[in-house]
Parts: sequence; structure tokens; C-alpha cells
Amino acid sequence: MAKVELQDISRQFDRAIAVENISFTVPDGEFWVLVGPSGCGKSTILRTIAGLETATSGHLYIGETLMNGVPARQRDVAMVFQNYALYPHMTVFENLAFGLKMRQVEDSAIAQKVEKAARSLAIEHLLQRKPKQLSGGQQQRVALGRAIVREPQVFLLDEPLSNLDAQLRDETRAELKQLHTRLGITTIYVTHDCVEAMTLADRIVVLNRGRIQQIGSPHAIYNRPKNLMVATFLGNPPMNILRAIYIDGTFEIHDQTLPCPLTLRERLQPKNGQRFDLGIRPEHIRITPSTEQSHLTVKLDILEPLGRETLIRATLPQSDILLNFYSDGNWQGSPGDTLSIHLDLDHLLVFDPGSGKTIH
Ligand code: ATP
Repeated sequence: MAKVELQDISRQFDRAIAVENISFTVPDGEFWVLVGPSGCGKSTILRTIAGLETATSGHLYIGETLMNGVPARQRDVAMVFQNYALYPHMTVFENLAFGLKMRQVEDSAIAQKVEKAARSLAIEHLLQRKPKQLSGGQQQRVALGRAIVREPQVFLLDEPLSNLDAQLRDETRAELKQLHTRLGITTIYVTHDCVEAMTLADRIVVLNRGRIQQIGSPHAIYNRPKNLMVATFLGNPPMNILRAIYIDGTFEIHDQTLPCPLTLRERLQPKNGQRFDLGIRPEHIRITPSTEQSHLTVKLDILEPLGRETLIRATLPQSDILLNFYSDGNWQGSPGDTLSIHLDLDHLLVFDPGSGKTIH
């Protein structure tokens, strides 16, 4: 096992810069997730670590060894892709054994290692089958097994669950987490799925347009995003964003007002009269009980019953400002209803509209 350290890694294709000045260190044994929209450079970073791509500049270390120029097969990393790429003419056993055979490991040791990997993935009963006799989920497990038998220093996983249906994806995700706890191998995992990022990661690296936006624990990324991009990328439904003008301790939102939290007033007062973007997550909005003072009035557009709770999609009257929030699953309402809502202002975020940075 080993740490993985990227120092100022950039990769340029012709004129396009795919990733720019990427620096982070994944400590030995941790599970890090690279997340971001399509084209942000996730795969390029992973392929650079694997040795399948060459950095235009910067340094890459695995353990204490500088890996620039070291061929992929000498890096002691195992990569799993979203398309499992199993050898179709070989059995599962042969697929798992292939890499070890190439390295001239003894037959008895191969059998032992293959059985151990198969046991840890619960695919022992499939060892004599060919890939086409397996479901997508089983094939993906074999692909993982092929990486595990090699006992690499580092696992690199590129969207390994994206070809699985929703239920299998949830199950395999949980298994992956258990597997990592058991094996403790340094893992770097690429996805654009926020749930995978939140549930699997020790640390999340959020990328956009080839640059790091924020590195942090799932809790920090979700609750203390550094900018509007991070705030709106993680979370489903996403954070609600309201355009507002700050005027003397209040935010004017369309033709309604919201009190500005005391902690922010000092920061915003010099910018009196300016526009800001406000962010509030759906779980921090609730329908106001009749005994409490409400903050905003909205028009209910769509109700989506989810069982335990109902997702409400609403708009500020006569505006295009959308708000998503939840009610209790038993709550009754109809499209067109007017609702009074309360915002938990302790969780209100304010973003600078120019830079998108969070104002603290
Ligand atoms: P996705 O989630 O869609 O797989 P990604 O975040 O993994 O995207 P990359 O595949 O790393 O993104 O691509 C980053 C940028 O680099 C994109 O703009 C892509 O078009 C560009 N790119 C990647 N590989 C090449 C290549 N071989 N030649 C030219 N441009 C490339």
C-alpha cells in the first residue's frame, strides 16, 4: 500500500487544457473520490496516475517513488473501468488468474489467491463460467476481482458502477465500501454520481473545467461548500438558489423579504444595495406551522410523494425562482396552493455573484 501524491499535474491536448495544476495527496489506505461534471478531467487524472496518460507537466509519486516516465505495468496499480473488459473466451477463474500467470506466479499460489479474491466478492460459485453467462453485476465483480488478486498498492476505479441498474448499483456500492474497509488499499474512484461520492469517500475532490474546486470530507463539502459550483453539484435535489438584493439587514427576493443572519450583516453592509445569490438546501426549508412566523410565500407546482416524505416543487409567485423542499409524507396539498415557508437561516449560504465564492 502507498500514498499517491500529485504535484502541479497538468495535461494539455493540442490547445485544450484537460487538467490544470492539480495537487493533492491521498494518504496510504484512504478512499478518495474525484467528482465533477462530464469533461472536468476526472478520467485524465486517473489515467495519468495509472500511466495510461502522460502529464504535460508536474510530478506524480506513488509511495516515495517518482512515477513520471515509469510504464503502467511497473506502477503496481490496478484499474477498473466502467466497461468490464473481461476476456470473453476465458472462464472467470482464468480471467482472475491471467495477470498472475503473466507474472509467472506458481499455479498453487494462483489458485489460492483467486479463491481468496472470489470469496471476498462472493463469486466462488461462478469460477467455471464464461463472462457471457454472467449478469452485468457479476461481470463487474469479476473485473474487481481481477484487480484484487494482484494485491496492488493502489486501486483506480473509473465509474465502475455506472453500467449497473439502480438496485445492483446500491448493493455493489455498499460491498465496495466493505471491501475497502477489509483490504485497506489506497483507492481513487472517479464518478459523476454525488451519492457514490458522499457514501464512499474519506475525502472528495470536486473538479470543474480541469481545476480543483474543493477538497474535503463529504460532510464539509456538503455543508461548507467553498463556491456556488460545489454547492449546487452535490445534493439531490440540488441546493435552492435565490437571487437577492441586500438592503440594510434584509434580503429582497423578488417582491418578498428575508432577514439576513446577524453573522453576515457586517460583511454585507459595505455592499448595501448589491445583488447576491442565496443558497438553502431543501431539508432546511419547511412549511410554516400556523403558530410560527413564516419567511416566504410560494406557489405549489408539483407534489412528488416519496413515502416517508413528499418532495414539493414550488415557485415564488410571479417569478421564475424555483424552490424544492420536503413535507411530511402524510401532508395534503394540491398544485396551485399558496404555502408559507420557513427557512432555517443558520444554514443559509451567501455567494458572491461575480466569483461565485461563498461569503462567510
Ligand atoms: P466524463 O465524466 O465525461 O468521462 P471526465 O471528467 O472524465 O469526463 P476527461 O475524460 O478527463 O473528463 O476529459 C477532460 C477534457 O479533456 C475533456 O474536455 C476532453 O474532451 C479532453 N480530452 C480527454 N482525452 C482527450 C484526448 N485524447 N484528446 C483530446 N482531448 C481529450
